[in-house]
Amino acid sequence: MNCPHHCEIYKAVPRSYRDLPLRLAEFGTVYRYEQSGELHGLTRVRGFTQDDAHIFCAPEDVKEEVGKVIDLVLYIFKVLKFEDFVAQVSLRDPGNPDKYIGDDDNWNAAEKAIQEIANEKGLKTIVELGEAAFYGPKLDFMVRDAIGRKWQLGTVQIDYNLPERFELEYKGSDNELHRPVMIHRAPFGSMERFVAFLIEHCAGKFPLWLTPEQVKILPISDRFNSYAKEVLELLNNYDIRASIDERSEKIGRKIRDAELERVPYMIIVGEKEAESGEVSPRKQGEGDMGAMKIETFAEFIQEEIKKLLAN
Ligand code: ZN
Repeated sequence: MNCPHHCEIYKAVPRSYRDLPLRLAEFGTVYRYEQSGELHGLTRVRGFTQDDAHIFCAPEDVKEEVGKVIDLVLYIFKVLKFEDFVAQVSLRDPGNPDKYIGDDDNWNAAEKAIQEIANEKGLKTIVELGEAAFYGPKLDFMVRDAIGRKWQLGTVQIDYNLPERFELEYKGSDNELHRPVMIHRAPFGSMERFVAFLIEHCAGKFPLWLTPEQVKILPISDRFNSYAKEVLELLNNYDIRASIDERSEKIGRKIRDAELERVPYMIIVGEKEAESGEVSPRKQGEGDMGAMKIETFAEFIQEEIKKLLAN
C-alpha cells in the first residue's frame, strides 16, 4: 500500500492551509503472495498495479473533495459505459462504538457529508451500517457486468487514523496547528482486475477511443496494397490507430476476421477507391457506410471519439 508513503511526502515539509487540498496520485505496483490455487486470470495475480491516490484536506472540505472524486468515478463509468451500478455507503455500527478510532464529531460530520454528497450527485445508494473501516466511512461503487456479476470498482474512503498516526499537521488561517483528513480514492482498484472486468463487460468490443486497433484496412487484392498504405499513412496523421490486412485472402475472409477481432471500423479498398481516392468504410456489426473521402472518414472518427469522451 502506498498510503504511508504519501503521508511521508505530506510530512516532508511544513504545510499551511494554503497547500490544501494536497492531492497525490500514482500507479503503484504492489504484491501479494496468493497461493497457486487462488490465482485466477487477471482478476487475482501476485503482482498488480493500483491506481492509488490520497487527498489531504481540511475537515471542512471533506464533502467537496469527496464530491470531486465521485465526479471522477462517474466520468470513468460513463466513458466505459458502465451503466448498472450502485454506491454503497458504509457507516459505523451504532452498537459497537469502540471499534472505531477518531472523535465522534469528525465521524458524524464525515458520515453526514458522504451521504449528502452521494444524494446531491444523484447516486443510487445503499447504506450499510457496520461496514465502515475502523478509520472512517467509505463509499464503494458496485458495478454489474454484462453477464450479471457484481464487482466492486471504485472506492472513496475517509480516514482520520493515518493523519493521527503520522502526526500530520497544517497551519490554519488562525495560525494554529490542525490535523488534516486523508481521503483514499481508487476509481479502478487494481488495473489488472479492472481490465479483466472491462474485457468481460464489453465482450472485447472496447469503446472506440480505447480499442487498440480502431480501423482495419482491407485491400481487395495485392494490387491495392500500395493504395492501402496511403490510406494508412493518412489515418496515422489523424492519430487513428490502424493496420492493413495484407494477407492473400479473399475479401470475405478478411472482413470476417476483422469482425471477429472486434475492430470497430473496416476500410475496403479496391479499383474504384484507388481511382477516386476515396474509401468505403464498414462499421462493425452494422455494415457499409458508403464511399467518402479519407479525410472525411478520419474526421468522422475523431468526432466520434470526442463525443464519447465529452463530460
Ligand atoms: Zn490509501
